[in-house]
Amino acid sequence: MSYSIFSLVRNAIDYHQNWQKAWRNPDPKREYDVIIIGGGGHGLGAAWYLARDHGITNVAVLEKGWLGGGNTARNTMTIRDNYIRSASVPFHRESMKLWRGLSRDLNYNVMLHERGMITFLQSGSGVSHARRMADTMSVFDSEYIMLPLDELRRRVPFFSDTARMPIIGAVYHRKIAMARHDAVAWGYARAADKRGVDIIQNCEVTGILREGNRVTGVDTSRGVIKAKKIGMAVAGHGSVVAEMAGIRLPLETWPLQALVSTPVKPVLNEIFVVDGFHNYFMQSDKGELVVGGVTDPYPSYAQRGSPQVTEHVIEGLVDVFPVFKRMKFMRQWAGMLDITYDNSPIISGTSLEGFYIDVAGSGGFKTTPVAAKMHADLIANDRPHPLIEEFGLNRFQTGRLLVEGGVDANR
Ligand SMILES: Cc1cc2nc3c(=O)[nH]c(=O)nc-3n(C[C@H](O)[C@H](O)[C@H](O)COP(=O)(O)OP(=O)(O)OC[C@H]3O[C@@H](n4cnc5c(N)ncnc54)[C@H](O)[C@@H]3O)c2cc1C
Repeated sequence: MSYSIFSLVRNAIDYHQNWQKAWRNPDPKREYDVIIIGGGGHGLGAAWYLARDHGITNVAVLEKGWLGGGNTARNTMTIRDNYIRSASVPFHRESMKLWRGLSRDLNYNVMLHERGMITFLQSGSGVSHARRMADTMSVFDSEYIMLPLDELRRRVPFFSDTARMPIIGAVYHRKIAMARHDAVAWGYARAADKRGVDIIQNCEVTGILREGNRVTGVDTSRGVIKAKKIGMAVAGHGSVVAEMAGIRLPLETWPLQALVSTPVKPVLNEIFVVDGFHNYFMQSDKGELVVGGVTDPYPSYAQRGSPQVTEHVIEGLVDVFPVFKRMKFMRQWAGMLDITYDNSPIISGTSLEGFYIDVAGSGGFKTTPVAAKMHADLIANDRPHPLIEEFGLNRFQTGRLLVEGGVDANR
């Protein structure tokens, strides 16, 4: 059933009793052409692009929990394209382009809306980094502008004049957007299922099977499933799953946390980043303040987050915005980031034939459509699309790294 105003009216007349299930819940088949490990936005997206763009529909997505229950459900939904390397900017800009058409492509409202982002600058090095990024972005025709203090004061009248590290200026990027993270996973799942992809939940991959140097399938908590090709999109578990294939990835896994306050009336439109404290916050559609910051100070797989990071994040927020001092926080959580040594994603074939990886990196919600599309293209054609040529694993051997910031605020 296609979602439209007509289906809404029809189902309203039927008291909403006859909506079809958004996706099936099939048992795994014995064999598929392609298996995607990981039912987050990246994995579900790859399955859908395989089906839509390459006509490969004998595909299963294997998810150890429930779909979209990993980092896709834990992130703070910011979608931005302000990067500095000549390979990163087109990649992220293509993602923005795909985001804009995603609700239409999937026939599912991912609730994309442009919010704009203001980064408060508190040091000379922050200003020079922002200028450098503004210059780079202008080469790519992007609107990323420096805001002098008086203009900033006009737009945001309620920041403190007496912050421990005084605000000396800001940068503004109008196009930065947010989308509803669950809707992204559900939209891809529904669209992929419609094209025949099997989405198999509660199915943990426990081993990668191979003959010689080629994959032949996976061992799972629901038995062996054969496949000619396997794609991995398991943010936060990249090293664990790749190790099953005998591959050691150049990354570390770090927890990142976020917290939300009780809802209040609308006060903020833009997403705010406080450069000196490495934290960021925005107001959700429901009115909650959503606050995030740096990763925990050590690698871990614990999805909790350390109290000292929570404290640091709140300290920075109330120092610059004392107006929020009496807010009550009601929820805190963490997810895990697979952070590469240059802070850029990896979308690549591997030394094992038929095994492909999409490592989302430090801020992979924003890249969901482009990474999934490129991952699917790689699996289908066995060669990297020009857009991701520089995102391969071999850059860690050649030394041609794509060094980006991004392991802290402003993911
Ligand atoms: C607190 C926080 C805030 C963030 N904020 C932002 C942000 O504002 N903007 C941004 O761009 N990014 C942000 N990120 C990063 C972003 O959430 C992730 O990069 C992105 O969601 C990765 O998507 P994914 O589909 O690859 O991973 P996931 O959604 O994590 O999906 C991977 C799936 O693989 C499954 N899996 C793992 N191992 C196995 C196995 N052995 N067998 C089967 N299934 C398996 C997991 O259960 C999981 O569901 C944030 C992350 C966190 C934690």
